[in-house]
Amino acid sequence: MLGECEHEYLEPNEEEIVQCSEDYILFRVACIRCGMVGFAGGDIAWNPTYWEDEAPESDSQPHNPIPRG
Ligand SMILES: [Zn+2]
Repeated sequence: MLGECEHEYLEPNEEEIVQCSEDYILFRVACIRCGMVGFAGGDIAWNPTYWEDEAPESDSQPHNPIPRG
């Protein structure tokens, strides 16, 4: 039956990482059916990065005081 394997592999974990760059990652995987070793990976679609705004210390006064009347 050699040559007919569809090559299934388990979800790779961090220990199987063979290459990891800013936007690309590569895992070493082994087929759970025939044991063949291969590689799986691809581009990483990073989520947008959010940075907390630094609160300006000299601007603690309210900008829009509610007018009373
Ligand atoms: Zn296989």
